[in-house]
Amino acid sequence: MRESRVLICAASYDHLKEAVDSAFQLFSPDLEGKKVLIKPNVLRDARPEEGITTHPAVLKAVVEKVISYRPTALWVGDNPGLLGYGMNEFCFARAGLVEAACGFYTNIGIEAVEVPFHLGSIEKISISRAVIEADVVISLPKFKTHGLTLLTGAVKNSYGIIPGAQKATLHRLAGSSERFQEVLVEVFRLRPPDFFIVDAIVGMEGNGPASTELRDIGLILASDDAMALDAVIAYMMGLEPTSLRTLTYGHEGGLGEIALEKISIIGDLRRIPNFKLPPRAGDITGRDERIRELMRKRVKERPSVNHELCSRCGTCVAQCPAHALEMIMGGYPTLPNLDRCIACFCCQELCPEKAITLQ
Ligand code: SF4
Ligand code: SF4
Repeated sequence: MRESRVLICAASYDHLKEAVDSAFQLFSPDLEGKKVLIKPNVLRDARPEEGITTHPAVLKAVVEKVISYRPTALWVGDNPGLLGYGMNEFCFARAGLVEAACGFYTNIGIEAVEVPFHLGSIEKISISRAVIEADVVISLPKFKTHGLTLLTGAVKNSYGIIPGAQKATLHRLAGSSERFQEVLVEVFRLRPPDFFIVDAIVGMEGNGPASTELRDIGLILASDDAMALDAVIAYMMGLEPTSLRTLTYGHEGGLGEIALEKISIIGDLRRIPNFKLPPRAGDITGRDERIRELMRKRVKERPSVNHELCSRCGTCVAQCPAHALEMIMGGYPTLPNLDRCIACFCCQELCPEKAITLQ
């Protein structure tokens, strides 16, 4: 069985070549003469300084490194959450990632292939053709919290292989947070990336993945084992890896190692002091399983709109997969029927004004 290794390297956006070189040297991805897809995290249209998307300096350093291996094809792409003609390139451009892609930006949302996938009434889903055609997939997650899954790392970054409105459909069919985390793992399993480099130079804490609370961490993390990498991220955030369903489910499914004592850490692994977790962490990380179960059944988070920040753009209403939000009489988005909300937090992720929090 291969050893699970995670590299932790100090870096800044001005000085990260050494960290990226170390990652490629340690994991030696086989890229020469191969078709390579680099997939950053492009959640939505956001400027680099908002810390929502993989920073362009990280993407540029990785692209330049990959070019030096002389691949036969190179694509840089993702499927952001915002739908609509031209939104893919718009999101990449706003995040500074078209320029950072050095001419290799590709709208991978245009061409998709169907693959078997069983969830509720669906039996197949479409994923970007580039994901299937690439010999090597390099994933560039961002070190961030997530209101629903607690962290967004290696596993969650692969949700972006799905173009179009299917992400919302899977959210809706999954229904619960626990089940959605299993669905994330099943999507990841469709084509696990070969290599991961995490932008943990500036991370996000609090109510991610589009929170205003950024945290200077000053690190690049790398691995070829997504489970081990997410277990390390969880530990750094102050979470027990076994409290995350993505990790226990993925580990049970043979996707990698999550026991820190079995992972070879190259670098200095420490918890980040006083790292702010999303509100949902309380009912997941409590010590008593009976209390956790009670919390899961009785406590449901729902989105709440801050009227002072809301510009009434309607994005959350248009993108809600459960059609739970309404703009009543041209006012602010409201939830007329709480039961219809499936607590997927897509509205929070996509709100350009960061006006939505969980209640
Ligand atoms: S997306 Fe945000 S700003 Fe736009 S209507 Fe919804 S809450 Fe308001
Ligand atoms: S209101 Fe928000 S959290 Fe609820 S289902 Fe719609 S997008 Fe998801």
